[in-house]
Formats: sequence, C-alpha cells, structure tokens
Amino acid sequence: MSSSNNKIPVAVLAATGTVGQRFVSLLAEHPWFKVVAVTASERSAGQRYADAASWVVPGEIPPGVADLVVRPTDADPGDVPLVFSALPGSVAREVELALAARGYAVCSNASALRMEPDVPLIVPEINPDHIHLIKAQREMRGWSGSIITAPNCAVTGFIFPLKVLHEAFGIEKVNVVTMQAISGAGYPGVSSFDILDNVIPFISGEEDKLETEPAKLLGKLADGKIDPAGFIISPQVNRVPLMDGHLAALSVKLAKDAGMDEVREAFGSFVAPEGVRDLPSTPERPVILRSEDDRPQPRRDRDAGNGMSVSVGRVRPCPVFDVKLVSLVHNTLRGAAGGAIQNAEWLVASGYLGEQTLERLHVGTLAR
Ligand code: NAP
Repeated sequence: MSSSNNKIPVAVLAATGTVGQRFVSLLAEHPWFKVVAVTASERSAGQRYADAASWVVPGEIPPGVADLVVRPTDADPGDVPLVFSALPGSVAREVELALAARGYAVCSNASALRMEPDVPLIVPEINPDHIHLIKAQREMRGWSGSIITAPNCAVTGFIFPLKVLHEAFGIEKVNVVTMQAISGAGYPGVSSFDILDNVIPFISGEEDKLETEPAKLLGKLADGKIDPAGFIISPQVNRVPLMDGHLAALSVKLAKDAGMDEVREAFGSFVAPEGVRDLPSTPERPVILRSEDDRPQPRRDRDAGNGMSVSVGRVRPCPVFDVKLVSLVHNTLRGAAGGAIQNAEWLVASGYLGEQTLERLHVGTLAR
C-alpha cells in the first residue's frame, strides 16, 4: 500500500463545482494521488474549501481538503506535477495551455481543447494508445507538460457500445437520442421551475460534441496524428429531471451483417486492454450487458462498478438501421471526474509523468 506521504500531490482546478467536488471526493481514497491544492473563481478564493463549496455529492467533505484555502485559478497551483481541471469551458483553454507550458500535466474534463489535433481525447478502455499523442504535443508546443482530455459525459457513455460494434462489425451511421441528468449542467444548473415535470429538448453546444468526439475517440493514431473514424452520427439531446445518469438510445447501421447473438456476444466479451485493466479506477466489468426488458435504468444502474461501469441493454434488431440498444453512464463519475482520474492513472502508468519527477517528490512504488 502507498502511504499518504508517497502519493503524488495534485491540485484540483474549479474544485468547488459539481465535477470539482467529485474529484475531491474520489481522490480522498485514491491510492496514488493526494489533493494538496484547490482553486476556484474569485468568488471563492481566500475562503476555506468547506465554506466556499456548496457540497452536493454524497458523504462528508474529506477532512484533508475541508481546511485548504481556495486559491485563485490564475495563481501557481504549487509543487504538484499533476493538475485536474473542472474549469468552465470559457476559461479552461487559456488556463490549461498556460499550465502545460509551465510543465504541469493537465487532465481535463473541460471541452475547450478536446478537439485540438495534438491533444489526446481519451477513455483508457477505448483508445489507450492515443496517450502517445503527447509526444507530438510536446514536440509541437515545445513544452515538457501535457494536456489530456476526457470526452463529453454523454459521449463517454455511448462510446463503449460504439467501440464494441465498430471493432466487431464496423459502423456506418449512428442515430442517438440522449436523456441527460441535471447534474450535467453543473450547480445550481437548470432551475427547478424549468425542469420539474418537464423535458427540455436542447442543451447548448452539446449536439456538436456528440457529432465530433466519437470519431476522434475511435480514430487511429499514426505519424503523430489521429485519423478519425469514418462514420456519421445524428444526435438529439434532452435534459430530463434526473439527478445523475445519462441514458442514450442508439440505432446503428453496421458495415457488415451481424446476428443479434453475435452482437450480444461482442458486448459480453468486452474487457479492458492489458495495462488499463490494472489501473485503480478501472472497473472489473467496464461494460455490463443487461438482459432484462426494462434495464438499464438510471436510478438502479448508474452506480454499477462504483459509477465507472457503463450499462448496455435492450439490444435488438432495428428495422431502419441494423441494431438498437440503450446505454447508461454516471455522468459525473465515469463521465467526468472518475474518467479524468483514470486518464491520469494511465498517464502515470504510461511513463509520461517522468521518473525524475516522481523521484523528486519521493513517490515510491504505486499500489493498485
Ligand atoms: P459547475 O458546477 O457550474 O462548477 C463550476 C466551477 O468553476 C466552480 O468551481 C466555479 O468556482 C469555477 N469557476 C467559475 N468561473 C471560474 C473562473 N472564471 N475561473 C476559475 N474557476 C471558475 O460546473 P461543473 O458541472 O462542475 O462543470 C465543470 C466543467 O466540467 C465544465 O467544463 C463542464 O463542461 C465539464 N463537465 C461537466 C460534466 C458534468 O456532468 N457536470 C461532465 C463532463 C464534463 P466558484 O464555486 O468559485 O464559482
């Protein structure tokens, strides 16, 4: 076991928000990382973390973080090699670029840099090799730091079934309709007056992300570039009155014929790639295939695998395309902080934090 003084010290940017709080909560028990600095907006800077954050995630604020004084986000995050970013898109670009230029490794949940050609957009079970895009990034930008990003929370859910189908049969077209929880809009998010007894068929900027991010995630890395996957996606997004959990109903046109037994078999046999399997945040079963007629359901299934497993169900023939199914992801765990933490684990396991940095910080062997 790692003792707390040989863990890697980390900072969380925008630590007071919905995703920031998930970072703080998940990192409290993390075997490799320890939160030593938190930042937020000018509104919170200078206050105790416990006073600045309207704590909305389950459990108490971890004692080691409650008394930290919130730093302004433009201040130095301190002697940490690794920074988690839950910054709003509007400020993330400038702050994350500046930190990477100063040598920090940035693991981000923000959308600002996801589609930059030299920035890895990663889900470790899906495209672990894209981590090596960091080499091209360092060369092109001339910095020793790095930026890696996790996808949009809804994309993180349905990329698992798309990966399975694309690898086994090839994908030509996808139609996806999402039902997305209110925690996806941050805190305080959509007003209760607007969302209770209602569905809002619009989330600003979301459909663009659902159209572009999957092709990058399922693209091929060659010669320091990602060649995006060649299928097209038509998304329609909805905000629904759920606290957590994004559900997606998909119809997929495959490149070759497949029977439903073959499709189910492909889902049932999905495992994390070697190396990724052993990361602390990788769930035992990244994809859980449900056979019941009425699953997955957000309230019942979003916490599967500590909120890191994606549930897939209702796999059946589609009379318009080839296959229909439903997938479910916990949007602030697998779809946000949990995903970015797993990305950081993959960055460390892949050697991109640097032996010298770890030695300087007296970080010994890292335990699972
Ligand atoms: P949120 O609950 O609204 O929290 C916003 C956070 O940003 C707060 O900590 C806030 O600090 C801080 N902040 C606001 N303006 C700032 C500024 N100018 N400089 C520095 N910090 C500032 O939002 P969220 O849901 O946590 O989302 C955070 C990021 O994660 C966004 O980029 C979002 O797109 C992305 N994301 C969210 C989800 C999700 O399910 N919620 C999933 C994937 C990705 P104060 O408390 O001081 O105001």
